[in-house]
Amino acid sequence: MNCLFCKIIAGDIPSNKVYEDETVYAFRDIAPQAPTHILVVPKAHIADCNGVTAENSGVVAHIFEVIPQIAKAEGLETGYRVVSNCGEDAGQTVQHLHFHILGGKKLAIEMA
Ligand code: AMP
Ligand code: ZN
Repeated sequence: MNCLFCKIIAGDIPSNKVYEDETVYAFRDIAPQAPTHILVVPKAHIADCNGVTAENSGVVAHIFEVIPQIAKAEGLETGYRVVSNCGEDAGQTVQHLHFHILGGKKLAIEMA
């Protein structure tokens, strides 16, 4: 499959890994929007939030167990933001479900 994040998970494209287990991979964003900017992805290809189903939602639950562990390891004790862009209007640029962890500074509140 011609998917950038599948290639990163496979090791075909280099990444700055911060966490990996059987079903989840996390790495630093190449164009950080905050002092800490990490992407957390399921190893199995899911295109976006609309691709989450009763069959594959377990990995999303697991991602939300992993996120606090990464945040703690990164020293984000004063807070952080988790974002997932779904589709064109949200500005999604990579069609493999991913959750941005943003932190390390007071983040602007821009919901739209
Ligand atoms: P989104 O716009 O929500 O689809 O997020 C895609 C993110 O992937 C952006 O923040 C990009 O900076 C990031 N990105 C693109 N290519 C790479 C790469 N090779 N390694 C790490 N992050 C990347
Ligand atoms: Zn993929």
